[in-house]
Amino acid sequence: MKLDLQACSRARLSRDPRFDGKFFIGVLGSRVYCRSICPAPTAKEKNVRYFATAAAAADAGFRPCLRCRPEASPGTPAWLGTPTTVSRALRLIAESGLDDGGVEGLADRLGVGSRHLRRLFIQHLGAPPSAVAQTRRLHFAKKLIDETSLPMSELALASGFGCVRRFNAAIRKVYKRTPTQIRRLSRQAGVQPENEYLFRLKYRPPYDWEGMLRFLAARATPGVECVADGHYHRSISLNGSDGSVDVSLDANNDALLARVQFGDPRSLFLIVERLRAMFDLNADWAAIAPSLRADRALAGRVDAQPGLRVPGCWSGFELAVRAILGQQITVKGATTVAGSLVRAFGRPYVSAHKLSHVFPQPKGLAEADLTSIGLTKARAATIRGLARAVVDGKISFEGVVAPDDFLFRLGELPGIGAWTAQYIAMRALGEPDAFPSGDLGLLRGLGITSSAELEKRAEAWRPWRAYATMYLWTVPAEAVNASEGLSKGDSATASGTAVEARMPLGV
Ligand SMILES: [Zn+2]
Repeated sequence: MKLDLQACSRARLSRDPRFDGKFFIGVLGSRVYCRSICPAPTAKEKNVRYFATAAAAADAGFRPCLRCRPEASPGTPAWLGTPTTVSRALRLIAESGLDDGGVEGLADRLGVGSRHLRRLFIQHLGAPPSAVAQTRRLHFAKKLIDETSLPMSELALASGFGCVRRFNAAIRKVYKRTPTQIRRLSRQAGVQPENEYLFRLKYRPPYDWEGMLRFLAARATPGVECVADGHYHRSISLNGSDGSVDVSLDANNDALLARVQFGDPRSLFLIVERLRAMFDLNADWAAIAPSLRADRALAGRVDAQPGLRVPGCWSGFELAVRAILGQQITVKGATTVAGSLVRAFGRPYVSAHKLSHVFPQPKGLAEADLTSIGLTKARAATIRGLARAVVDGKISFEGVVAPDDFLFRLGELPGIGAWTAQYIAMRALGEPDAFPSGDLGLLRGLGITSSAELEKRAEAWRPWRAYATMYLWTVPAEAVNASEGLSKGDSATASGTAVEARMPLGV
């Protein structure tokens, strides 16, 4: 793992928030590790060591600083050319820790040997998979201690320690304090209602929150999602329980505020990780921007709206259904149909904020008569086919370790073409280089006539083609007609004729 030590040093001395979470600083005297923004007086250069990850600092015997709280920093960006095996392993650890079979199980799922995986982790992250998983668990526990009033027994389960004894021992070992002592230090403001949790989720600035909200608002499924007064609300369903989230901007702290309402605290870790992915909070703007600026068609857009992110999704299945509904109709039309789908097949959910349902589950849609809400037979068959494939376990949106294989299987379903598959890769798998190269909006935005030419042009945007796509879709250059992304559509009958080409894409 190579860190640019000069850049680290500059970022540390200027407490630059753009580098927050991209490296950690171990202080030799105190044996504490810090974020680049730590408010504590800066140590002399000869007394610090730099680490690529918190896990590497922990593995080298440093403790997390109680002032800058490394557990609150934005996550490790998918960057620096870490091999895909490592970034996929990190994604799996984020989703379920090492709960299913430890490092051996993880390596198995990735199709590599466990010794090889360990070597890759040490080379690129500075710590073995077990240390990475342990640090994540500990960080999340610390976040729950500081930011919630959950009883310690529930907190131990929610952060994956299994029992209070192990949890207490781990916290004491690392922090030299009991969980209760740490909670006293955190000065929590007010008591939160039962089953409600408030999390501050950090990002590396800049972050274009307005752009994110605009994109989500235009596509908000009535009853399930709602954007109002700078907040994004939605209902969620996980492991058999329903709840809701409310996300807004906390610009002064370079963070989003997520208010989570959910009955089962054991799901909090997954909920927080999903929200981080959905709002693209691990993105590293400093790494992304230069590739985009190098293209003259993008430079103006990037400067006009810095910090644009690729909106992810709460559920890959929901996004895929939404993408199919939107083939060849307007965004508005697709939103209306999605609302009908939810009213007809979703489970009622009572809450404030105009939320009335949770999104239908695959099981419900696999057998549903979807023509009853006005879908064409072909579109109805595509959605039923997708739902059936998920129910049968042929397609799973969770723990995707081989995106190419996943997309291939998705593309085999009738009615799902390359465009839809790439769109799903972009928003459901968080692939920063996913690229719907047949997109007419992209072609027009750049004044290009063939997708082959577009693909050639886009080589320079790698590995950030999804970000370039977002700019071309949502930030119109003066000369470009201010339309949404356009597409040829993907259904079996689509042929990319001039008429279809003029239709805005409803996804
Ligand atoms: Zn610190």
